[in-house]
Amino acid sequence: MSSPIWHPFTQHGLGEPIPLVTHAEGAALFTADGRRVIDAISSWWVTTHGHNHPRIMGAIAEQAAQLDQIIFAGWTHEPAETVARGLTGIMPPALTRVFFSDSGSTAVEVALKMALGFWLNTGRPRQRIVVMEHSYHGDTVGTMSVGQRGVYNRAYAPLLFDVDTLPFPAPGAEARTLDALRHLATAPEPPAALIVEPLVLGAGGMLFYPPWVLAELRAICTAHDILLIADEVMTGWGRTGTLLACAQADVVPDILCLSKGLTGGAVPLAVTMATDAIFDAHRSTDRAQMLFHSSSYTANPLACAAAAANFAIWRDEPVPARIESLVERQAAALAGLQADAPIIGARQQGTITAFEVGSAAGDYLAALGPRLLAFFREHDVLLRPLGNTVYVMPPYCIGDDDLDRVYATIAAALRTL
Ligand SMILES: *Cc1c(COP(=O)(O)O)cnc(C)c1O
Repeated sequence: MSSPIWHPFTQHGLGEPIPLVTHAEGAALFTADGRRVIDAISSWWVTTHGHNHPRIMGAIAEQAAQLDQIIFAGWTHEPAETVARGLTGIMPPALTRVFFSDSGSTAVEVALKMALGFWLNTGRPRQRIVVMEHSYHGDTVGTMSVGQRGVYNRAYAPLLFDVDTLPFPAPGAEARTLDALRHLATAPEPPAALIVEPLVLGAGGMLFYPPWVLAELRAICTAHDILLIADEVMTGWGRTGTLLACAQADVVPDILCLSKGLTGGAVPLAVTMATDAIFDAHRSTDRAQMLFHSSSYTANPLACAAAAANFAIWRDEPVPARIESLVERQAAALAGLQADAPIIGARQQGTITAFEVGSAAGDYLAALGPRLLAFFREHDVLLRPLGNTVYVMPPYCIGDDDLDRVYATIAAALRTL
């Protein structure tokens, strides 16, 4: 009985098993064949407080009895108003406006459209977007354009628009990155915006750079009137130890993209937040200057109810303490692994740890990721290496026993290789 489903980022030709999950709780997934799997990557970076948080699930159920979905162009509802007020209350005060969409990719698409709309509507058309090497902002055509080019988008290259790319600020090479931005900023055709993943480049290989580099990038943008778009789709909601990664650099972007943990990871929702300046550039009696963007399910009430419950959890539960504890436990676990196994490039940013395995290049490496993946799957740990980079990014509620088992499983995998 084969399934008609075409899975995302899945090579069906390899015939890898696809487990059937029936329910989840906290940091655990339960499969139809009776296994308990530790979710060590927060179901692809979305789950913050843990699966099936009663407060979030309760809020969705309660909302489901009231209002399912309405048009959001020219109409509104209380769950969306609550989310928007909640966001403006906890995010940097300069970000006064909240535009809803459904995914991280759409939040970034909207950010790019806001940036170009800003420049066109203020009579100084600027079109170029500056990006960082190894960045990832989504899988739609616009977000692929501002992301790293490679095998994953080679077939679609003819559709992608040109961008200017800053080299990744690797340790010791930060000045090169900053100089590249300064150079672009003073070019005859100055850029409209710089888009970055603050502090952590996720899909690009869990690459980290320090807050001072982000602060310098912000300073150059400010000095040259370049809009700064912060894609905190993954880093937001405590992932890097603070509510936003930008906070560690004391940076406030002009445009902020949030999704993933916005609903605690329970249901899809995204927002693009913007400053008054960007909103005002679109505000006019001329309809031609509006932000031309909408999706059918913009600000879906059930999703908004989940986001509102997420805010309540941040307000009422000791979330920062839980994150702090996970940061410490992750540090200890990584140090333990380093002492025990041949890993390289061990690093940590907040609740995320990452390292590389193996040092050989070529076919050996290509085969390593899938072998690790299979080992982890067989040992009931959900980890999904990026090439030869293994990372651990659990929900904040993960227990000591489960975290120990994740690292013990990694150590065991490395012994078998
Ligand atoms: C996951 C991710 C996206 C895309 O979000 P989707 O909800 O998968 O569209 C964009 N940017 C970053 C930094 C991400 O990690």
